[in-house]
Amino acid sequence: MKPAVFLDRDGVLNQEVGYIHRVEDLNLIPGVAAAVRRLNEQNIFCCLVSNQSGPARGYYPASHVDALHDRLCSLLDQEAGAQLDALYYCPYLSPPEGGTDPEFTRWTTWRKPNTGMLVAAAWEYDLDLSQSFMVGDKATDVDMAHNAGCTGILVKTGYGDRVLGGKYQHHTHPDFIASDLAEAVDWITQQGSKSGRR
Ligand SMILES: [Mg+2]
Repeated sequence: MKPAVFLDRDGVLNQEVGYIHRVEDLNLIPGVAAAVRRLNEQNIFCCLVSNQSGPARGYYPASHVDALHDRLCSLLDQEAGAQLDALYYCPYLSPPEGGTDPEFTRWTTWRKPNTGMLVAAAWEYDLDLSQSFMVGDKATDVDMAHNAGCTGILVKTGYGDRVLGGKYQHHTHPDFIASDLAEAVDWITQQGSKSGRR
């Protein structure tokens, strides 16, 4: 089993601009492509895990989310030759949370802060969640990390600043707070194997 770095999408890799209805409106946060490239160079498995409720809300089809991810991967590659080893997203949403499209409206263990995407990735790619990191900009990202036994890192990009200021979601206890993904990767690569610390 190997460790992984799980990455939230909006507010961590690309600029947080709400629901992205036009593919060309997905743009990287400065420095993230080089940061992902550094993980690639150290052979650390990089996995996107993202709540994308647009299809359940009837905003756009799931194929649009795939198109957004094609652009995301192209930008990472063009800017720094960086790549994601796997991409998971949850298009589902429960009715009380706002799900309306029958195909995608359901309760699911895949929606953060539940751990379904992490567990699925761990099974599919033989990942050790207890040695893995999750980088996100919301309290629910940190909650998911801890629910799965991962180390949870909160970045200040996206909603991160507002979470830390008590102005978005709820209080959370990240294992590390980073200004952005580049600083998060610095910290991750300094940790080495965590087994000696536990
Ligand atoms: Mg986010």
